[in-house]
Amino acid sequence: MKVTEHIKNANGNTQFTFEILPPLKGQNIDFIFDSIDPLMEFNPPFIDVTYHREEYIYKELENGLLQKQVVRKRPGTVGICAAIQNKYDVDAIPHILCGGFTKEDTENFLIDLGFLGIDNVMALRGDAVKSETYFTPEREGHTYASDLVKQISKLNEGKYLEEELQNTTPTDFCIGVAGYPEKHLEAPSMESDIYFLKKKIKKGATYVVTQMFFDNNKYFNFVEKCRESGITVPIIPGLKPLATKKQLNMIPHRFSVELPDDLVMEVVKCEDNKAVRQVGIEWCIAQSKELIKAGVPVLHYYSMGKSDNIKAIASEVF
Ligand code: FAD
Repeated sequence: MKVTEHIKNANGNTQFTFEILPPLKGQNIDFIFDSIDPLMEFNPPFIDVTYHREEYIYKELENGLLQKQVVRKRPGTVGICAAIQNKYDVDAIPHILCGGFTKEDTENFLIDLGFLGIDNVMALRGDAVKSETYFTPEREGHTYASDLVKQISKLNEGKYLEEELQNTTPTDFCIGVAGYPEKHLEAPSMESDIYFLKKKIKKGATYVVTQMFFDNNKYFNFVEKCRESGITVPIIPGLKPLATKKQLNMIPHRFSVELPDDLVMEVVKCEDNKAVRQVGIEWCIAQSKELIKAGVPVLHYYSMGKSDNIKAIASEVF
């Protein structure tokens, strides 16, 4: 079932969902099931599975020269989605990127999803590869997520890259896209970022999931601005509980989001990461309760493969 139908069927009740990462190459599917099992009692209507593009690593050769190697550390997004749908009978949502994909790769990826009975897809540009500063598309790929959304929408009309294909079956994907309550790190202004978000919706996206935020006012202001600009689709808040002291520096740097002073100071005072985890859980419970009161359709948790703190939050909130 489509995300938009899940939201409609919930009749205004806030639903619990979460996102998982494929395991590192070499681990098996039980690693994923072990992180999902404890969360199934909260009846997620769908589970997102992230996509991880290739990275470059450099190996030192005997002669001292460096050899560039291309590796994908977390493959398996599509297989995991199929396994989740099969085992739990909930919708699994694969993330799909512009980065690393040609248009033909994209089309073939979508064909696989269609055959597997996957109805939803989260369309993203992806970041620059780790060793580069700026995002570079493939030669025959997409530069922005809006171009990717357009390709998926065309397939939903039965239009494949080979225009001469006759009597095609249209796909029927519900398309989600990313939104940034504190603006995307590359965007010159919030206004321009919302302008391009609107473009993704015009091309066929029917819901938005936000980047993590730690101050609900950032989300409320963002939603208000989106509505003023004419965006009417559901805007699902994404939440992540802090779990380690290191994240105080890593999260603002990596995701370009601010951490409120009160939260930072509580974490600074913690003696160890066990205490940080508890602060993160309590902060996230308070955020969740306020968002539910405001009537959000879904609370989407970034689990990062760790379910114990998400379970502690969901137990208090749902
Ligand atoms: P876009 O919507 O293309 O926007 C990128 C930037 O370009 C923005 O600054 C925007 O304002 C600007 N822009 C857009 N269109 C135009 C235009 N036509 N002209 C000029 N500027 C334009 N990354 C992964 O690698 N794997 C994942 O699974 C993944 N999942 C995510 C899930 C969520 C909910 C979120 C919020 C992010 C996720 N990301 C993931 C990270 C995401 O790929 C990065 O944030 C990426 O840098 C931007 O992706 P986007 O789809 O928002 O890009």
